[in-house]
Amino acid sequence: MQYDNTSKKKIIKNDIQKIQHFRLALQTTFLLLVVWIGVEFWLFVSSLSPDVTEFHNRPEGVDGFLPISALMSLWYWIQSGKVNMIHPSGLFIFTAIVAVSVYAGKSFCSWLCPIGTISEMIAEFGEKITGKRIIIPKWLDWPLRSLKYLLLGFFLWAIIPMSVMQLNVFLNSPYNKVADIKLYNFFLQISTTGFVIILILFIFSTFIRGFWCRYLCPYGALLGITGLFSPVKITRNPVSCIDCGLCAKACPSAIKVDKVKRVLSDECTMCLNCVDVCPVKDTLFQQNIITKRKRSNFATAAGIVIIYTGITGLAILTGFWQNSVTAEEYRELYQIIDLIGH
Ligand code: SF4
Ligand code: SF4
Repeated sequence: MQYDNTSKKKIIKNDIQKIQHFRLALQTTFLLLVVWIGVEFWLFVSSLSPDVTEFHNRPEGVDGFLPISALMSLWYWIQSGKVNMIHPSGLFIFTAIVAVSVYAGKSFCSWLCPIGTISEMIAEFGEKITGKRIIIPKWLDWPLRSLKYLLLGFFLWAIIPMSVMQLNVFLNSPYNKVADIKLYNFFLQISTTGFVIILILFIFSTFIRGFWCRYLCPYGALLGITGLFSPVKITRNPVSCIDCGLCAKACPSAIKVDKVKRVLSDECTMCLNCVDVCPVKDTLFQQNIITKRKRSNFATAAGIVIIYTGITGLAILTGFWQNSVTAEEYRELYQIIDLIGH
């Protein structure tokens, strides 16, 4: 037991920092999985050349990088009751991510997303070399944060009015079938403008924590909204709080955790850093605002893994994972890929 010098309140150091190790392990696993998918996809694309006889199977997980196609597929599924079998894994990855957000807010961003993980790593590097965390002033932060909602709004505005027939035409179009290869080619044959934009985003994300995620990612915007429906929120007990401010300092989303009773922000990624650093037992915790029951850090971590693997695993087991595009069709489309979409 320790005692705070200023408030003399009893402090019991939490021993729950293990959850951050688990979070890091999960982030690393997911990042490695994405690297493996990248290598497999490279082998798949290489095998599409006419001079290569052996076809390399496409890693279906690559569909996770086609969120717009997945959103359209979801909208088609909702309207027609049928699953479109072009990139079905993308649909279920998307559904799993949204389901995770309803359980634990925007937790995908800080527990699974490879971009979020890289963003976190480079921000830590940036803070090490500058020795401080740069916080954008509120008057600039608010309009910048709205950019990602504008991007999301634009996609929803374009997709929601689409009828089942229009969605079906797009989902079965050659463009959608090779959207993953087009994305791959974009990065492989990146233009100077594209490279400069990525470099700028990289530099900004090094010195401004979560620059891409906080200001520009439409996926993050969607999860910020669906995450608001999660009944479990970070909750502070103002009676036992000693106002040390450690929680606010630890928050990567710059939320003033020490000033609120409940974190209701769309920027909270449920990373649990604030809960971990709080030195007073039972002062900062996760609480279901409807039932008033507390949820342990372990339950959050386990829930994220179970929901994500449960939904994607069910899709694999029930045959809704494998893309219906054949090897022959992929080979044919690959020959004319530069003409597709023009
Ligand atoms: S409020 Fe807590 S859980 Fe939410 S982002 Fe900040 S540190 Fe993470
Ligand atoms: S809730 Fe925040 S300010 Fe209060 S004791 Fe915990 S870390 Fe310190």
